[in-house]
Amino acid sequence: MKALYYDGKQAVYREDMPIPEYDEGHSLIKIMIADICNTDREILKGYRPDFRGIMGHEFVGWVVKSHDPSLVGKTVVGELNEGCGTCIYCRSGREKHCLLRKVIGMSVDGCFAEYMTLADHLIHVIPDGLPPEQAVFTEPLAAAIEITKQVHIDPSLNAAVIGDGRLAYMIAQVLSLSGVSLTVIGKHPDKLKLFEPFADTALYDDYLNGGGYRDLKADECFEYVVEASGNESGIHLALNIVRKMGTIILKSTYAGTTGLNLSMIPVNEITIIGSRCGPFEPALKLLSEGRVSFPKVELYDLMDFEKAFSSDAFKAGFRFE
Ligand SMILES: [Zn+2]
Ligand SMILES: [Zn+2]
Repeated sequence: MKALYYDGKQAVYREDMPIPEYDEGHSLIKIMIADICNTDREILKGYRPDFRGIMGHEFVGWVVKSHDPSLVGKTVVGELNEGCGTCIYCRSGREKHCLLRKVIGMSVDGCFAEYMTLADHLIHVIPDGLPPEQAVFTEPLAAAIEITKQVHIDPSLNAAVIGDGRLAYMIAQVLSLSGVSLTVIGKHPDKLKLFEPFADTALYDDYLNGGGYRDLKADECFEYVVEASGNESGIHLALNIVRKMGTIILKSTYAGTTGLNLSMIPVNEITIIGSRCGPFEPALKLLSEGRVSFPKVELYDLMDFEKAFSSDAFKAGFRFE
């Protein structure tokens, strides 16, 4: 079968990969659409140095074969972390933190291929009428919804999202549904335009003054600040715009170290929360009810992966016939 394989240095298009065997408790899925995530781009920069295998974790496909007959023929999406099933994390609802977990497209074969196998309990059947082009947003949207699982957002207060990329867009859409007064802070006026229908927007530079951050009045600060910029400057800005006793949610997996002044956290009694993958069912519900929507995915043939990876579309991906 055709697949995009990471060989430890780069992505390689291959047509000689075998169709995978599906073990007990797993299904064989024929991939229809697979989207490129920033994590996939990070892998090409060396984020997973030990990984060798088929890339990709955001997909829509249909179940060709399964030990669970109720899944066969269904159009599905799937979660990416498969835990060992027996450790304390797996037994206490924290499978995504299992130390022995397999992560599709990062430690085991993923979805940039004609076929993939996945554990049945990670598979979610998509609601009737939801087009695959929208359903493919389930995984990143679930990650945005995770915030509302972790933090009670009081809609009479205000929130800021730092960042104007895809992740920020998902988060801002989800937060705007709560009715909270929402401001998106970014560095790119053209990208910020996308947010205008449902949020106020501001430029990062508006918060600067000379070499540092401008002093803000309490009214200008935010109760909830979600950092989704992927840059070190985002976390610095977050600490400068969060209200006393406010909450910062760290969403971007910034790989470097930061020289933060941590004294502000106890002095101002700031809560900092890390946030990663989230629940699929509410994401599918929001998508199928049309309560969130995303710009069209730019779809490529797998062999044109270089074009797809360098696309500056809102989201690029692969189409399989
Ligand atoms: Zn992703
Ligand atoms: Zn486990």
